[in-house]
Amino acid sequence: MPYAQALTKAHAAFLTDLFPGDGCLLTPEEMNVFATDAGRKRAMPWAVVRPENREQAAELLRWADAERIPVVPRARATNQVGAVVPVHGGVVVSLLRMNQIIDVDERDFAAVLQPGVVTSDLQAACAEKRLFYPPDPASVKTSTVGGNISTCAGGLRAVKYGVTRDWVLGLEAVLPGGRVLSMGGRSHKDVVGLDLKRLFVGSAGKLGLITEVTVKLVPLPEASASVLAGFRDLASCMDGAQAVFRSGLLPSACEFMDGAVLAVTRMVGDVPVASDAQGALLFKVDGTREAVDAEVRRLTEALGTVQPLSVEVGAGEAEEAIWEVRRTISPASFLLRPDKLSEDLAVPRGRVAEMVESVHSIGREHGLPVLCYGHLGDGNIHSNILFDKSAESEEAKAHAVKDELFRLALRLGGTISGEHGTGLAKASFVPEQLSADELRIMADIKAVFDPHYIMNPGKGW
Ligand SMILES: Cc1cc2nc3c(=O)[nH]c(=O)nc-3n(C[C@H](O)[C@H](O)[C@H](O)COP(=O)(O)OP(=O)(O)OC[C@H]3O[C@@H](n4cnc5c(N)ncnc54)[C@H](O)[C@@H]3O)c2cc1C
Repeated sequence: MPYAQALTKAHAAFLTDLFPGDGCLLTPEEMNVFATDAGRKRAMPWAVVRPENREQAAELLRWADAERIPVVPRARATNQVGAVVPVHGGVVVSLLRMNQIIDVDERDFAAVLQPGVVTSDLQAACAEKRLFYPPDPASVKTSTVGGNISTCAGGLRAVKYGVTRDWVLGLEAVLPGGRVLSMGGRSHKDVVGLDLKRLFVGSAGKLGLITEVTVKLVPLPEASASVLAGFRDLASCMDGAQAVFRSGLLPSACEFMDGAVLAVTRMVGDVPVASDAQGALLFKVDGTREAVDAEVRRLTEALGTVQPLSVEVGAGEAEEAIWEVRRTISPASFLLRPDKLSEDLAVPRGRVAEMVESVHSIGREHGLPVLCYGHLGDGNIHSNILFDKSAESEEAKAHAVKDELFRLALRLGGTISGEHGTGLAKASFVPEQLSADELRIMADIKAVFDPHYIMNPGKGW
């Protein structure tokens, strides 16, 4: 699509008029931080604007569509794939000033909010009314509900509660051209017509600007407890997880850590897992106090059948300490190498062991450490490829490992991204996963919402 090549004086005047004061940034110094995200790729925008309401957002998209100016929606920029990097220039739209929680309703079990609310702030507001919004990406304290919806963020609790998609009841979005579209509502069930709001979930800012959100809530679990178990090898780790699920339990988290993860986390502190363990499982259960006590008993019994090397139970105040090892992984990994590529492959659950073994052997072939950990309960395992940019050829090797991992996931019937999305980082691999027919239909659907392709171009589909 032919886009405008730069911002003219008339364009700049329009934007400063629509977004007075620091609502519009135009100098390189002010815009520098908006050129990148957690994926660390960079491209300078032509302008950054900060709408405070839907009317401003609608007027912006009416103008941008007419002028063929690329528009890149941006929230907290915690995505790790370059999803908010303006590779075609244009206007970056920060949604962070639209950050009001409008209503948390105990009768409807629903919350209505603006997209720039940080997810943990929504959870805290719900908890005050003994309500629960379960989606919890590890970035829950920094990322926003609008960003989570646009990426369909997953997280630790997805095994029991599902991903962000499962909690969206309604959306309001502003479309290129300036139309405001309201989809869904507070009703927990609705089967009339096509589910348009779901098209926006995971659409990575490529259909329009989300300006209001309605999410589903459930009662806040009264209690929780966690269990950390160490195993002699990968196979017994997988047997441990199978034993728990076969016993009829559905934990709210089922995390896996490989031997390399345990070794590197031991370099920064005590890890309450047997020293000879080559893998660990971390479970969480939640519910009423009585149910949690009973589930912990059942879970440890189930694990006992596969003879773990160690089992540590954390309940009450001791629970958080048990998660410390999981939280330490990312900072500790930099002790191995200063740079890393973080991939989030997902495969059918039954093929996780095969995937982890293959990931390790690909890393060994290229002489690079690869750490595997994450959401075993969803078959979504994070693979961190560690390398040193300053060492000859290590960066190229890391990318070669990444390419092989993507192909491995596809061979195993999985996906190149379980939760982070494609952004710039994986855009070139999308045609390896999606068929030409799928891509054509997605392009047709995009054209209905965004006929001139101004929304977040260059991000994979
Ligand atoms: C330490 C760390 C841990 C993480 N853990 C997880 C995890 O466990 N699970 C997981 O899924 N992800 C995780 N992530 C990735 C990231 O946090 C998520 O992708 C998150 O949903 C991004 O939210 P954000 O507010 O930062 O959005 P941004 O990164 O700013 O934007 C993400 C996408 O949403 C679009 N967008 C944002 N707001 C709007 C809007 N209002 N309208 C239209 N489009 C919009 C943007 O254009 C972009 O495509 C993690 C990241 C970090 C740094």
